[in-house]
Amino acid sequence: MSHHISLATPHMSKEGYELEYVHDAFEKNWVAPLGENVNEFEKAVLSYTGACSAVALSAGTAALHLSLILAGVQKGDTVFCQDLTFSASANPIVYLGAEPIFIDSERESWNMDPRALEKAIDLYGVPKAVIPVHLYGNPAKMDEICRICDHYGIALIEDAAEALGSRYKDKPCGTLGKYGVLSFNGNKIITTSGGGMLLCEDEKDAKHALKLATQAREPFPYYQHEEIGYNYRMSNICAGIGRGQMKVLDRRVRKKQEIYRQYSKELAGLPLTMQPLREHTLSNCWLSSALLDKNSSRTPTEVIATLAQNDIEARHLWNPMHRQPVFKEARFVAVEEHSVATDLFERGICLPSDTKMTEDDVDKVCKIIKGLF
Ligand SMILES: *Cc1c(COP(=O)(O)O)cnc(C)c1O
Repeated sequence: MSHHISLATPHMSKEGYELEYVHDAFEKNWVAPLGENVNEFEKAVLSYTGACSAVALSAGTAALHLSLILAGVQKGDTVFCQDLTFSASANPIVYLGAEPIFIDSERESWNMDPRALEKAIDLYGVPKAVIPVHLYGNPAKMDEICRICDHYGIALIEDAAEALGSRYKDKPCGTLGKYGVLSFNGNKIITTSGGGMLLCEDEKDAKHALKLATQAREPFPYYQHEEIGYNYRMSNICAGIGRGQMKVLDRRVRKKQEIYRQYSKELAGLPLTMQPLREHTLSNCWLSSALLDKNSSRTPTEVIATLAQNDIEARHLWNPMHRQPVFKEARFVAVEEHSVATDLFERGICLPSDTKMTEDDVDKVCKIIKGLF
């Protein structure tokens, strides 16, 4: 009998940790954005990542928005953002009336090309912030990107929404920049049903973020507001799910990496390559992704459609931001004549990487793909 195979879905612990913490919140009537689960979830992420301070929020997008505010981004400023990413990396720049300038990818990790970042500074001056992404969990070239940001004094916002559990030279992703953004959306490596977290190098920033996320109330005996606030705090119910999920994060990372290894082995010999993993980095392999060769007889659309006919979900890579109608006015900087991000998009496929998949499931996906060549 065949069953549906998904790209990535929520995967609760078999021990039921998440439900215990949610139940506890009900018992204590802490069903608001206040309570033990929120604090303990933040502590668990802090101890896992070694970050200095953390604020649990309603979404990764909210964490990006607040990090841009903390970086001082205002109307008319420019922010350099990775081109090959999900739109949530770029949207908050526009919320603030700032201008996103998109930076092309390199081929070794598929992330922000440090050479294109340098070129963008030469062309358009020093931006208020830079947002690299660790695509599908694969760490960007952070040494080079950090060096450039340090040199010019630019705030580095690490979009680690897909990369909890990944490491760059033994440093956890999310802790490499001034600000780190995590997401616990339903399809991410762990989930809170929906949520995010902002990691800060500086505890003062975290305090400010917490205030902004809770309607920016000043410490007065009555309601006093001196800056614009947001309702971005994570609920104690969601944080209960997160607390339970933190206990199985390492298990999920190991499983994702096994899935990646199995694809690499079984698809070897076909006209495709897997997203390259670099030395001294550790990807959580959130989504195993493959790139069809330039002379491949098949397109990603054909492969995805064939898998869909077999009730298997696969997807295109993110469609680069500079190609999006909504960003058609935005500037884009590349060092190669043809955009690398576009080339990756045109040939890339995200393969099903659900941690509930068995070896046989991965094998089935591989057999169907092999049948196409
Ligand atoms: C998921 C994701 C986000 C947004 O996170 P939400 O929690 O869904 O708001 C931002 N950036 C990237 C790269 C993502 O994959």
